[in-house]
Amino acid sequence: MSLESNIKASIRDVPDFPKPGIMFKDITPIFENQVLCNEITEGFIKAISVKPNAIVGIESRGFLFGILLANKLNVPFILVRKAGKLPYKTISHEYALEYGTSKIEMHTDSIKKGWNVLIHDDLLATGGTADAAAHLVEQQGAKVSGFSFVVELGFLNGKQKLNIHSNNITCLAQY
Ligand code: AMP
Repeated sequence: MSLESNIKASIRDVPDFPKPGIMFKDITPIFENQVLCNEITEGFIKAISVKPNAIVGIESRGFLFGILLANKLNVPFILVRKAGKLPYKTISHEYALEYGTSKIEMHTDSIKKGWNVLIHDDLLATGGTADAAAHLVEQQGAKVSGFSFVVELGFLNGKQKLNIHSNNITCLAQY
């Protein structure tokens, strides 16, 4: 079986979560399968043409493969969190979600000017969250070298929103 079909076989669809009309793609069963976790990490590594200076992971499911990827590439891992969670000085960006609105933050001292940064999250829906993370990276004088997601909900056209930052967008499983 291909990596994409293995991923899809481990994703659980949860209807009407967190609110009616949303089909939630639950990736938690993936983490019960260590072979698949390794294959996914390797899949992301293979798709990277130029090694980034850091990986930015988006709260909270973006932390899971984000940290594995950063450790494997031997580069720093930087956390993007929802407003009010990071303890030190932060910059923030507000954006619209597939469901509701949100504000994300990053520590002001984690990214260096001129760095190439890869942004990672579990799932690309409308692209609003990853776009907001890209703004935080760019506000600090760094460049987005690419994005990586386990899952893409292609019918929501999230890639269109991200292309202004980088068209190097890896999605291992598409719906
Ligand atoms: P978006 O900003 O619309 O691209 O939404 C992406 C963020 O929301 C990611 O952090 C996802 O974890 C979460 N998300 C949005 N839609 C879904 C969905 N249908 N299933 C699981 N997570 C989702």
